[in-house]
Formats: sequence, structure tokens, C-alpha cells
Amino acid sequence: MTRQLYLVDAYHRDAPGRVTAITEEGGIVLDSTIFYPTGGGQPGDSGWLIWDGQRMPIATTVKGQGDAIVLVPAEPLPLPGIGTHVTQTLDWDRRHRHMRVHTMLHLLSVVVPFGVTGGQISARQGRLDFDMPEAPDDREGIETALNNFVMADLRVSDRWITQAELDAAPELVKTMAVKPPKSAERVRLVQIGDQSSWIDLQPCGGTHIARTGEIGALRLGKIEKKGRNNRRIYVHLDS
Ligand SMILES: [Zn+2]
Repeated sequence: MTRQLYLVDAYHRDAPGRVTAITEEGGIVLDSTIFYPTGGGQPGDSGWLIWDGQRMPIATTVKGQGDAIVLVPAEPLPLPGIGTHVTQTLDWDRRHRHMRVHTMLHLLSVVVPFGVTGGQISARQGRLDFDMPEAPDDREGIETALNNFVMADLRVSDRWITQAELDAAPELVKTMAVKPPKSAERVRLVQIGDQSSWIDLQPCGGTHIARTGEIGALRLGKIEKKGRNNRRIYVHLDS
């Protein structure tokens, strides 16, 4: 099992680690990692592993067997042996863009209050699919509302809550746009705004920026029809 340091602090750009396994495909598993694995529509992190004068580029990160997180080398270079102490370094520019786009999609899900059926994140843009039979008629209103949330520079924070605590607080579940999986013992809640008035509260295991102001200028993109009952909405980072 790999300790997920990116859940503790998404702003770690470098961290030490120890190799605990090499997969059959030549992927590297560390005891703890700052690399986010592909999932929830967000691409896996890339970066570098450094040890004994070696600097190995990492192309992406994926989930492995059990709770393992697997770093996938970009080139067929000699692998570090099990037990090797390494320094892991993120391609921070790319990851920070993923954090900005991911958080921007949280805001989009608030501004467009329909059920979300899917999503995708890249370094420049993101999209959400909504359970929404009619196209929204106020494009400008959506873009303005998103920009207002960015300008308000709202705090993004998280907290862990047990299933028992969640069961005891039905008003919390009612506030959530997405319901947490019943099987999870502990659920990570991501909250935007202040305790007195969360604008968004949902279970999420992704990486987020600390304040919405970090998103910067954004632009509403295409709104596509996807099947009879779905609309796909794109939002772009402007810089
Ligand atoms: Zn999230």
C-alpha cells in the first residue's frame, strides 16, 4: 500500500520515498508518494525520480493492485532496486494546472445545478457532462458566476469524516451534490467557502488549489449535446 501524500498536502512538489516494489510491467511503487494516479477524470502526474546520480523521467502514474500507486517510467532505463531511497519531483507546472482545472470544475458543478455524469481534466481545460435535457440559455450568466467565485478568492479545504459521523449528520449529505460511496469507512470531504456557507461540499479524492483566486482568468467553452439527456460543458483556463 502506498501512502497518498497528495491527499495530505497537494502543494508538495518534492518528497523522499523508498521503493517497495517493481511491477511486472516495470512500474515503480514507493512507500509514499506525491504523484496523483489517473482517476476521477484527472490525468496521472508526471515528473522525475532521482537517486544515486540517476534522474528518471516519469511519464504518468496509475493505480496498481490493492492500494499500490505505480509510477510509470517514460524511458526503458535501469530501475532502482527495492529498498532504494529516492527523491520524487513533480512536473509542478502541469500538476498545478490540473489542480486549477479540477477546482474550476467544482465551481462549474455549483453554477450548473444538474447531476454530473462524467468529467475530464487536462492542463488547459476541463469538461463536465450533466444530466440536463435542455441546453442552458444563459451562457453569459454561467461565465459571470464562475468568474465571481474566482474573484471572491474562496478558501478550498478538506476534512475526513467517518461513515458513522456522516450517518449522524443527514443535513451534511443533503448539502452534497454527489453522495459518498456507502462502503467507504472514512470519506474525504472537499469544501469551498466558509463553514457558515459552503458553496460546495462533496466527497472527492482529487487535488485542489488552496483558494479559488488561483484559477485566474477563465472562459466558458463549447456546450455540446451528448445523447438525449446530456449536455457537455467545457471551461478553459485563459493563461
Ligand atoms: Zn475535487
